[in-house]
Amino acid sequence: HVKARGKDSYRFFSESMSIDSTHRLDLERDLRMALERSELRVFYQPQVCASTNRIVGLEALVRWQHPERGLLYPRDFLGLAEETKLIGQLSEQVLNQACKDVGHWVRSGHSDLRLAVNLSPIEVEHPRFVETLIERINANDFPPGNLEIEITENVIMNDLEQISQKLRELASLNVRIAIDDFGTGYSSLNYIHRLPIHTLKVDQSFVKAIRNGADDACIVNAIVAMAHGLKLQIIAEGVETIKQLEYLRALGCHQIQGFFYGPAQSAADINNLLMQTRLQNAVSG
Ligand code: C2E
Ligand code: MG
Ligand code: MG
Ligand code: MG
Repeated sequence: HVKARGKDSYRFFSESMSIDSTHRLDLERDLRMALERSELRVFYQPQVCASTNRIVGLEALVRWQHPERGLLYPRDFLGLAEETKLIGQLSEQVLNQACKDVGHWVRSGHSDLRLAVNLSPIEVEHPRFVETLIERINANDFPPGNLEIEITENVIMNDLEQISQKLRELASLNVRIAIDDFGTGYSSLNYIHRLPIHTLKVDQSFVKAIRNGADDACIVNAIVAMAHGLKLQIIAEGVETIKQLEYLRALGCHQIQGFFYGPAQSAADINNLLMQTRLQNAVSG
């Protein structure tokens, strides 16, 4: 269509550009206000033990309750937060809220419940990353052994020296380390057994490939086999169907996360879910 407009195409293009940049400025201003007005929400997606069906972890996923645009997802604002350096503040608010919510559940009977948080490369690369993280969880009285941080392979490969020192410090404080979207980054498998990594999260794209034959699932098979060999925990992300669940279970995947068990939900909804499991346990036990 743009081509057919001939000379107009330039104007067409520059108009849409300027709309985009206005939109961006609006969103940046809105995000600053959102941080001041606490419009960010933390939702939690259950991580379920494949053999017991119990919730063993909760991944904190940020949402933005925008006053006009409704509920926004990370893809709508995370990039902007990173570019404008607002990510530090965003992350602080998410971590504080998550430590409060999950800390409450941990203290009220779910003592092994794990909180998984996503970290942006920018945060991890900050020289004071470890101190800041520990200060924040201490300030919220959150047990470090119940925390798992999720980072990507690219973060590790960017600066292996720096990152390995940081991860060692965290691991010595009992914080667990997970590799998110495993298999999609650029990386060398060599780092895995040299760093204190506890968990591999198989990327959704490989889980989606579990359909019919074993051919489709060969990457999942390989990742799970490798994790077993290295004695790492393995979480499958994006599990939507019973077929995928059964396949992963048979393969020996430890934990399952995905719409099959439920999407990320508000703290109130998770609270109800945890209450139900306690009632069930009280009845059956
Ligand atoms: P991620 O850490 O890989 O999280 C998984 C994403 O897949 C989440 O999207 C989740 O809602 C979605 N998901 C879970 N189960 C299923 C499923 O069965 N099917 C499908 N199609 N999707 C599923 P979400 O919440 O939009 O988050 C997107 C990404 O944004 C996350 O990917 C993570 O990298 C980042 N993110 C989210 N919250 C935070 C945060 O607080 N801080 C930072 N730095 N990044 C965050
Ligand atoms: Mg994640
Ligand atoms: Mg992921
Ligand atoms: Mg991701």
